[in-house]
Amino acid sequence: MSKKAMKKAAKAERYQAFKLERRAREKQIQKEKRRIKAQKRAAGELDDSAELEEKARKRQKMSGFGGKVVLDLAFDELMSEKEINSLCSQLAYTYSANRNASYPFTLLCTSLNGRTRDRLEAINDGAYRRWSHTEWWDDCYDCLWSSSPGASSSTAGSIEEIGSTQTELDTKKQSVIYLTADSGEEIEELKPDEIYIIGALVDRNRYKSLTLDKANKQFIRHARLPIGKYISSLPTRKVLTVNQVFEIMLNWVETRNWEEAFNSIIPKRKFLDQGKKGKGRKD
Ligand code: SAH
Repeated sequence: MSKKAMKKAAKAERYQAFKLERRAREKQIQKEKRRIKAQKRAAGELDDSAELEEKARKRQKMSGFGGKVVLDLAFDELMSEKEINSLCSQLAYTYSANRNASYPFTLLCTSLNGRTRDRLEAINDGAYRRWSHTEWWDDCYDCLWSSSPGASSSTAGSIEEIGSTQTELDTKKQSVIYLTADSGEEIEELKPDEIYIIGALVDRNRYKSLTLDKANKQFIRHARLPIGKYISSLPTRKVLTVNQVFEIMLNWVETRNWEEAFNSIIPKRKFLDQGKKGKGRKD
């Protein structure tokens, strides 16, 4: 084993030990909390209304916003090894943001293949397979509305569309919107009955209009986030990362306010950079 590999293995081992320790500590804290609660309840000191409120909040969180976000992983071959690693980190940020959100989306990761799959398998013993609120499909998202026999194969087994009529499938396709910075359309609000696709791609904008062309070819609706409308210092067609787009969506669902959502997710230095470079860039 090389020195570097040994270092890496030692680090992984330390991390694993730390994780187990942290879990045990968290369990202990929960146990203590339960004990105190039971004591209070026995003494008649528990405030029922606060408890009910907490329960309602939890229920609300579990039910989520109702919307679905598709992460389209079909661009594996267009990325370098480094970009794939970067994409996988973005996927992990996306999942983590969703897990901690007050109103999570259902995540559907489609066309899982190639080096992206290998990389995900390698991280933390394939932890991605255990992500909550997340489905992984080998198939493309077009299974959602395609009635071809192959469409419901393998990992796409849980699609509720199996057995739907053609009209239902057409309506489903109508509810799909590919999010892309290059669209001429601007999204105004997110709706729980719409399905939003984000291109799972890190390309430093090497492939211009790639996702827009894909949406047009498949006759899917497309739209960009309304950035220019709310943040005058940024170009209308500002290209963001996968997790930034997703986190802005989560934030909008919570606040119903695009300006706040952009401001809380896009790093402040981006605003300043744009100011320095002057207006009229790209758009
Ligand atoms: N050249 C790529 C850019 C990838 S950025 C392309 O053709 O899409 C990663 C993804 O984030 C995009 O595919 C898109 O789905 C989403 N995205 C990035 N910026 C966006 C914006 N301003 N509005 C809507 N979606 C955006």
